[in-house]
Amino acid sequence: MASRSRARTHTRRFEVERKKFFAQCKKENAVCWLCGMPIDYEAAQNTTDDSYNLDHYYPVSKRPDLQDDPAGFRPSHTSCNNLRGNKDPELPLGTLSRQWILIP
Ligand SMILES: [Zn+2]
Repeated sequence: MASRSRARTHTRRFEVERKKFFAQCKKENAVCWLCGMPIDYEAAQNTTDDSYNLDHYYPVSKRPDLQDDPAGFRPSHTSCNNLRGNKDPELPLGTLSRQWILIP
């Protein structure tokens, strides 16, 4: 198989970029991009509902080629990211109507 793997892989670049991104979010106290609420940066990642979790604007399952691209990184709550799964996100704060997006 000469084609690139489509499976989720953790490259060295991703590890470097996600650490940088976390440090930046923590410094700026960035809110969850899915719900707009503050994130508990003191909790270890992925341990509590309010803890930080790295989300991708484009789900990795759909765009594995963008996994390493920091431009697609978003800070989220562990619980919000879990709820989102690989669906397109509902718009955060200020959107009253729920957005349903067709997933092929
Ligand atoms: Zn959230």
